[in-house]
Amino acid sequence: MEAFQYSKAKSVNDAVTGLASNGAKLVAGGTTLIDLMKLNVERPATVIDINTLPLDRIEAQPDGGLKIGAMVRNSDLAHDAQVQKLYPVLSEALLSGASPQLRNMASTGGNLLQRTRCYYFRDTAYACNKREPGSGCPAIDGYNRIHAVLGGSEHCIATHPSDMCVAMMALDATIHVTGAAGERSIPITEFYLVPGSTPEHENVLRAGEVITHVTLPALADGAKSHYLKRRDRASYEFALASAAVIVEMSGRQIHRARIAMGGVGTKPWRSPEAEHALAGREANEKTFRSAADAALHGAVPRRNNGFKIELAKMTLVRALQIVTAA
Ligand code: SF4
Repeated sequence: MEAFQYSKAKSVNDAVTGLASNGAKLVAGGTTLIDLMKLNVERPATVIDINTLPLDRIEAQPDGGLKIGAMVRNSDLAHDAQVQKLYPVLSEALLSGASPQLRNMASTGGNLLQRTRCYYFRDTAYACNKREPGSGCPAIDGYNRIHAVLGGSEHCIATHPSDMCVAMMALDATIHVTGAAGERSIPITEFYLVPGSTPEHENVLRAGEVITHVTLPALADGAKSHYLKRRDRASYEFALASAAVIVEMSGRQIHRARIAMGGVGTKPWRSPEAEHALAGREANEKTFRSAADAALHGAVPRRNNGFKIELAKMTLVRALQIVTAA
């Protein structure tokens, strides 16, 4: 780890001002940044601690939705009574991630900005276009079992690692930020970027912008949701494939569905194709399988990760079976 300056932000404006200085990074729970600093992948000149900012509240909104401060810890969010009642998919996604100790530290804002677990990204002995633009991508022809089958390019196939973000993608969350130019709100479906030829750009945050909170719209009355994650071991492991599903039904007919996939995409992967395949259809195996085929349509397997395509389909089918069970 390289030496760095440390300061504490006393306000959001303080954090915005501090971020304007070259090489500054914010630290909340530190579960991504400190790891990467120890590996010399991140080498910030200044680390600005935002742990004392008053952004740690979960508040019901007049429209029935929820406002979640950026500093709300993952464990607090997962166990919040309103979240468990209104958005089980979010609580389940959070509890499927990391370990209790990490969830106690990790923040909502930090989780939204979680970096990939690509082995090559995390090892400075290797080239990596995301870490050093233009240096190459050894994962394309290397060992790529955990890499993405959706949204990749010849420059990067790194998987987005978060579970929380997959649930928030299905929930149509909005991310609220503050920067030197003021505040703005970004639908999560527009927040993440696919790598294309610039994998170093992972989202649409502008330089100096700070995430302050996330809002979730209310779900329709009677909507049911579920998060299902497949991984190599039962805990403390990233998804090989996961599915966040939200359905509104009339009898056995699916009126509307919202589907997002994790572990398979270069960003938390919303699937309008699967949603279209489900809308207006009877909830049965044929419908679920056709939605799963639609969700993975266009997937590009690499040498070691082709198994993810069928695994993801099976994960989505199972999640739909569970959420539509009487
Ligand atoms: Fe780097 Fe992306 Fe290639 Fe991994 S997949 S080595 S993060 S460019």
